[in-house]
Amino acid sequence: MIYADNAATTQLDIDAFEAMKPFLLDQYGNASQPYSFSRTAKKALSDARKTIAACIGADEAEIIFTSCGTESDNWAISVGASAGKRIVTSAIEHHAILNPCDAAQACGKEIIYIPVSNQGVVNLSLLEKEISDDTGMISIMYANNEIGSIQPISEIAKIAHAKKCLFHTDAVQALGHVPIDVHAMDIDMLSASAHKFNGPKGVGFLYLKKGISICPFIKGGGQESGLRAGTENIASIVAMSVALEKNCKNINANTKKLQSLEDALIKTLKAGDLDFLHNGSDLRIPGNVSLSFRKAEGEMLLHRLDLQGICISTGSACDSKNTQVSHVIRAIKVPEEYAKGTIRISFGKNNTIEEAEKIGKSLIKILK
Ligand code: PLP
Repeated sequence: MIYADNAATTQLDIDAFEAMKPFLLDQYGNASQPYSFSRTAKKALSDARKTIAACIGADEAEIIFTSCGTESDNWAISVGASAGKRIVTSAIEHHAILNPCDAAQACGKEIIYIPVSNQGVVNLSLLEKEISDDTGMISIMYANNEIGSIQPISEIAKIAHAKKCLFHTDAVQALGHVPIDVHAMDIDMLSASAHKFNGPKGVGFLYLKKGISICPFIKGGGQESGLRAGTENIASIVAMSVALEKNCKNINANTKKLQSLEDALIKTLKAGDLDFLHNGSDLRIPGNVSLSFRKAEGEMLLHRLDLQGICISTGSACDSKNTQVSHVIRAIKVPEEYAKGTIRISFGKNNTIEEAEKIGKSLIKILK
């Protein structure tokens, strides 16, 4: 099998797996309990929080563990909806943002969707114009899951703060793949998910800048400083911290490797004389390759590649049942005769040049 759908999920890192094992078997104490048996779990929770905070330039008190990126996004949008009448977001957000925005709109909030360029980058002057006095939050994703385009995050934060509104970013696709410093970039809230950076599924976090007060999203016990109730998933949180630290330490090497895989794929496809568009901006998440083949069907390509043991995606993994042209491909205005032939190949640190070339050759064979 060739797994090239790392934007959908990644393989658990072996060190992360080893780190979580003791907390699944021997060290199963509840971190909230005062007896000595729980001390190891409590310390592991605190160490993981410190490690994660250090990876993103935050303080440990600013990290709130959640169950996934979707939960963090839903929480952020609920904060935005409480902060003002209007939320300004982009036309290419993940449904973990779009659907809570729909829900906020149904409750009387005003949601503004900023268009993007053909490269998938938010139009900053339009963004600035749309911020009214009653805008509570700007929520713009760090990097897009379908085409990999990275947004000008520091500039957006500046615009938000000049207009005195909160700035949230969905960094689910970006964290662990590009360097992020929340304090230097002046981000107020950031969503993250472990399974996108070789951590386990079902765990994530929300970064919340000190001084911003928010209501609990899940109410119950006093965990996570009373902001997110529920017994902590220690094993997964520990594994998330190990995976993130490892990925962050290796960002430069991983980026170099992933770019060489992208180059090998594109070179192979060009040699096959195929008519295709390579979507996204120059500044993209390493390894995320969105291609639109003229007069092809993305769905057909996915299934034909699957028969050869190759896993890729037609767009957003979380929207695989929807075979229509995605809102992202529409928003970047991919011409009609290419749009339906869109696939996403997303390489990870375990892929090889041979695999990238094999995918290219398989595509040539299918399309010819
Ligand atoms: N946001 C983006 C940009 C994503 O790509 C995804 C998942 O694909 C999510 C949010 C949802 O994350 P999770 O799977 O952890 O709920």
